[in-house]
Amino acid sequence: MNKYLGIDIGGTAVKIGIVDDTGNLLVSSEAPVAFDHYDTPILQTVLKESEIFLNQNNIKPDDLYGIGISATGQIDAINGIVAGSGGNIRNWEGSDLKEAFTQKYHLPVTVINDANCVALGEKWTGSAKNAKDVIVLTIGTGLGGGIIVNDQILLGQSGFGGEIGHFSIHKEGVTCTCGNKGCFEQYASMTALVNSVIRYYETAEPDHMRDCPVNGKSIFDSVRKGDEAIIRIVDAWIHDIAAGIVSLIHIFNPELIIIGGGVSVQEELFIAKLRDEVMKNIMPNFRTHLDLRAAMLGNNAGIIGAVYYLIQHSDD
Ligand SMILES: [Zn+2]
Repeated sequence: MNKYLGIDIGGTAVKIGIVDDTGNLLVSSEAPVAFDHYDTPILQTVLKESEIFLNQNNIKPDDLYGIGISATGQIDAINGIVAGSGGNIRNWEGSDLKEAFTQKYHLPVTVINDANCVALGEKWTGSAKNAKDVIVLTIGTGLGGGIIVNDQILLGQSGFGGEIGHFSIHKEGVTCTCGNKGCFEQYASMTALVNSVIRYYETAEPDHMRDCPVNGKSIFDSVRKGDEAIIRIVDAWIHDIAAGIVSLIHIFNPELIIIGGGVSVQEELFIAKLRDEVMKNIMPNFRTHLDLRAAMLGNNAGIIGAVYYLIQHSDD
């Protein structure tokens, strides 16, 4: 059994684990990376934490076949460098992850974007196992995704590909963080839903928010109780998510759409409705053998996918 080190670097924490050649996560740990507001560069923290992790678990670099890294931001996958932080993470852009880990451990190292790793993780051992053409959307604070074409993650020329939160579904829509208007993320993220519900309460029931905070859980509790106004808002949100997915299906003709993020546990109130809406609006031939379902791996998808990419590309 070959063992690999998987590292999933996010904006708040890094997850480190050992993954075997069948995609089992054998042991893992997590450490914060934003403890001093990034005065300590994330790369420095991650190098230190990887050493602590290997020592604690009594693993020598010689026991490993390589290091697969999943990293937040725009990742130059060819050179293994952070090309853009995609937000306000200080001391992150320009980090040469591949060089630093190669120097330290003398093992094969690959680095790709975290959303693409989630897609690959689901393909290897999760909901998209054995599927060749898959689109994975992770609905959270933002909207992440990955596109798998014929078993390979679509990276584009530099590794920035699959940024599905940033194509426009409303040409004259709200301005996005990326500078464009009406991006899918502005309508399909959990943030978008929460903001719509807050706007509703502010005008219709100003007292409501004093008593209970608005979040994904509270919104779906209201839907379950049959709150008509909230159901309408959620339906409009699902309608926008479906609009984006329909376009993606027409471009990529996938066999599977995987939905991740906390909301994906809502099978009846969300996944089933979204599936119906998508199936209703695509051209009939695209419906053949197509399914839409929830992701399975949760927070471990990134580590597992990072190692899958490494295994796929360790001969490059
Ligand atoms: Zn955008």
